[in-house]
Amino acid sequence: MKKDARIETRAIHAAAEYDGGVGAVSVPIYATSTFRLKAPGDESGYVYSRTANPTRNALEKTLAALENGSRGFAFASGLAATNTLMNLLKAGDEVVVGDDLYGGTYRQFERVLKNFNLKFIYVDARNPKNIEDAISENTGMIWLETPTNPLMHLYDIEAAAKIAKKLGILLAVDNTFATPYIQRPLELGADIVVHSLTKYLAGHADLVGGGIIVKDEELGEKVGFYQNAIGAVQGPFDAYLCLRGIKTLAIRMERHSENASKIAAFLKNKKNVKEVLYPGINGERLPNKMRLPGGMVSFVIDADFETVKRFVMGTSVFVLAESLGGVESLINHPASMTHASIPKEIREERGISDGLVRLSVGIEHVDDLIEDLEGAFRTFEKVPIR
Ligand SMILES: *Cc1c(COP(=O)(O)O)cnc(C)c1O
Repeated sequence: MKKDARIETRAIHAAAEYDGGVGAVSVPIYATSTFRLKAPGDESGYVYSRTANPTRNALEKTLAALENGSRGFAFASGLAATNTLMNLLKAGDEVVVGDDLYGGTYRQFERVLKNFNLKFIYVDARNPKNIEDAISENTGMIWLETPTNPLMHLYDIEAAAKIAKKLGILLAVDNTFATPYIQRPLELGADIVVHSLTKYLAGHADLVGGGIIVKDEELGEKVGFYQNAIGAVQGPFDAYLCLRGIKTLAIRMERHSENASKIAAFLKNKKNVKEVLYPGINGERLPNKMRLPGGMVSFVIDADFETVKRFVMGTSVFVLAESLGGVESLINHPASMTHASIPKEIREERGISDGLVRLSVGIEHVDDLIEDLEGAFRTFEKVPIR
């Protein structure tokens, strides 16, 4: 593969060297915990699978190639990646956080990492000035997830990177919703990209995994140290599945975006829908270098908790489930599901109302998806709407 190959090609060929020495076109699963050494203390090759495993390495190399980083790291889950990353900080440090984020990340910040005397300051990062204003001499990191889960807020990564560079602070971006096919934060100046591989990168709802990608080699050495020292690594079977999923990332993201755009437009015309949250749908410009709007659509139904619950139970193609990013469409009620770990007052303050519904739009035929939603909207005909 040429060094400047395009992302569609990198997704398929970046790990070609991991062919098991026999020319295997698909990366083998190295189900081994340890490796035969040539002599005591020999560290010239693989030693132990927590430290390095060829199947995991093939995935890590692919992640780095996709995000245009120098090093990639694979973990047992997205939250394991986040937890490992936070070891770059020390007690007393502050993290400035874009205030709409995955509920599990919020829970880890507030209920785990706070006990280690890290402080998290939440700001509306749609305006980069709010980030700058929240920075103090103790700030060690800026954490942004964009588009955000579940409100689909868009942040200007380039603007945040300028602030981070100027003040010598690390900028970490959770790129789970967009994927490197849609935006590449390292190219926009971020220091670190974090992924839940569970979602679009694996893409088939068949594993849990996490990733970290960095550009700076010294930073890569540090993350590599913590990956091995903490040990929350991904196993070879899941790494294999994830690699397999990544090969079709480009065509999946195209179809996810195409279907989701049509569904967002359909929802905008529905009288029971108060608001549609989807990049670009309300006339806003997509941030620089965001290639497509993606496959996630949130919307607000003007109805009470019980009616909304009935709505999300009223589809048959859309599966009622947490998670996102697989080929199959999912429907989720954040207030009672993915974001239930955020206290109700904080949830409502941030706009995660009882009427909010989040769709992970899959790659089925879009007409079947729209007909399915039409069916769920018919539940409103039986009960009066507020
Ligand atoms: C799911 C998710 C995570 C956490 O990843 P896990 O693999 O579930 O641990 C982090 N960030 C975002 C945006 C997510 O959607």
